[in-house]
Amino acid sequence: TYVIAEPCVDLKDKACIEECPVDCIYEGGRMLYIHPDECVDCGACEPVCPVEAIYYEDDVPEQWGAYTKANADFFEEL
Ligand code: SF4
Repeated sequence: TYVIAEPCVDLKDKACIEECPVDCIYEGGRMLYIHPDECVDCGACEPVCPVEAIYYEDDVPEQWGAYTKANADFFEEL
């Protein structure tokens, strides 16, 4: 799955939402989140993010590692 990290917080550009072919990017209070079970790993969202907030799960920068769980947890709480 792909993961949205810190650069999205309080920005929510939403260019990624337009690109996602399976509509698995959702809006939260302060950022957008990718549903880990719905993402098909197509990678279309990654290059359109203006602040490089989106990463493949294995490539999430270490300082933003907690965002992998944060994306999954967002959907647990719904
Ligand atoms: Fe959607 Fe593809 Fe990005 Fe996954 S990798 S969130 S399916 S655009």
